[in-house]
Amino acid sequence: MNESPEGSDPLAQHRVEILSMDPLILRDRYEIEYRHSYAQDTPFFLGLSKGELLGSRCTQCRYFYATPRRHCMECGHATTWERLPTTARIHTFTVCYYGSERFLKETPYVLILVEFEGVNTLFLSRLKGVDPEQVRIGMPVRPRFAKEPTYTVTDVWFEPIEQG
Ligand SMILES: [Zn+2]
Repeated sequence: MNESPEGSDPLAQHRVEILSMDPLILRDRYEIEYRHSYAQDTPFFLGLSKGELLGSRCTQCRYFYATPRRHCMECGHATTWERLPTTARIHTFTVCYYGSERFLKETPYVLILVEFEGVNTLFLSRLKGVDPEQVRIGMPVRPRFAKEPTYTVTDVWFEPIEQG
């Protein structure tokens, strides 16, 4: 046990490692713990954990958003949750050869804008289970859901529907 006055003070224990003096390069850690409230978007993320993709339908003009939206951008009225269709098509896509640290080991990966029949906006997601060279606009896809939810948007992704 460290009995010094600094022993219980995390800031006093913080040490920076100097990797180079010119230019000055330090090795350091960055870590943050936080509480994030999904507030009115809660049903969307709980839906993903149950294998349901929920969109937002305007109660006045019936505009149908593929994403959580409390109020309609067209007329300002409140929306209600409504399940999105279980099949869709690729509206457009991009192949990512670089990404944030979390996704770097999965490159190249495919991001798609998903187009649902009867829905007025698009949904951004990952496409898995297909060679990036084989991806085409208009390709039929369906959502897949994580068996163990993380309650983030990565709980849902899309895969091509096998053409029989
Ligand atoms: Zn509306």
